[in-house]
Amino acid sequence: MNNFFKVLHKSKKSKARIGEIKTSHGIIKTPSFVAVGTKGTVKALTPELVKQIGTQAAFVNTYHLVTHPGAEIIEKAGGIHKYSRLNMPLMSDSGGFQVFSLAREQRKADIRGEEQPLVVKISDDGVKFRSAFDGKLIEFTPEKSMEYQRKIGADINMAFDECTYYPATHEYAEKAMERTHEWLTQCIKFKEDSSSLKQYLYGVIQGATYKDLRKKSAEFVVSQNTPGVAIGGVSVGESKKEMRDQVKWVADYLPKDRPVHLLGVGQVDDIIDLVKYGIDTFDCVEPTRLARMGVIYQVRGEIDITKNIYKNNLEKVDVDCNCYVCTYFTKSYLHHLFKQREILGYTLATYHNLWTMEKLFERLRDLISKDLV
Ligand SMILES: [Zn+2]
Repeated sequence: MNNFFKVLHKSKKSKARIGEIKTSHGIIKTPSFVAVGTKGTVKALTPELVKQIGTQAAFVNTYHLVTHPGAEIIEKAGGIHKYSRLNMPLMSDSGGFQVFSLAREQRKADIRGEEQPLVVKISDDGVKFRSAFDGKLIEFTPEKSMEYQRKIGADINMAFDECTYYPATHEYAEKAMERTHEWLTQCIKFKEDSSSLKQYLYGVIQGATYKDLRKKSAEFVVSQNTPGVAIGGVSVGESKKEMRDQVKWVADYLPKDRPVHLLGVGQVDDIIDLVKYGIDTFDCVEPTRLARMGVIYQVRGEIDITKNIYKNNLEKVDVDCNCYVCTYFTKSYLHHLFKQREILGYTLATYHNLWTMEKLFERLRDLISKDLV
């Protein structure tokens, strides 16, 4: 386990730290952004471009990959790295987030008396549902989640958890937290029994927007000694303050010798504060999703390139950026691509936004090394 994560410098000013996560597909220098590659692709980019940007790691979603093309074919291909050619450290989630979103939709449909046959059964064991893609029965339990993730073969796996919706009652949040803890012990056991691959498990802290539950969950999850720890159930509709509080409350309990991942958070204005609480890695769909909508990150804020004011603007895409896109292309050209729905627009915008994230984290690591953060 010690080989997996190394702290290279601790800031004198906060809980921020510089570290290295070592996997058999490369090293992640932390703090780091993890690009979202839901279905085994960072949308609009070839794996070569992802590498060229300097993106250190990507995040794939078990639920989506199990629904299509199925974990078996990925295993047969030699794992997700070979199958997708994303030759870099990869993380996979447990499926819990999507599975419980689905279950929530089912509950709403039940209340409205609608027929929605997707979710077949939810219990303490897990969830059974029909694939929206082809109607096939799929089951997610702690054991199944671990098995799917083993077959997919990402370097870092998340334990199966129940992600609460927002706002959740204290009673429900507590029940979901206890279920998450029980499932974590099952995931650990299953992994000990079966895994010979170099895959590292992260336990997931839950507890919704309740301080007592977050602390309790952090104590339990950290005590289980998984190689890493993740914080889940945040950024599910709560305010920014509530989101940050959920991280702040557990900051004192986070492991000093193991990496900490924050699931689903990565807005530029949140990152610096969250790094100060001891977060090492972040995955977030925003830089790539917004790029495809024409929202272009700038060192000073962001712009909507689809606005007509950019039609005749021959400035660099971001005057402060030196990436490939900003070296060769203008705002006018990118605007033109988006207005004409040219596919290249999505590629260039995604490239630049991910590059901006990489530069942000590079600066952050430099500031931490100088104890300025
Ligand atoms: Zn750029």
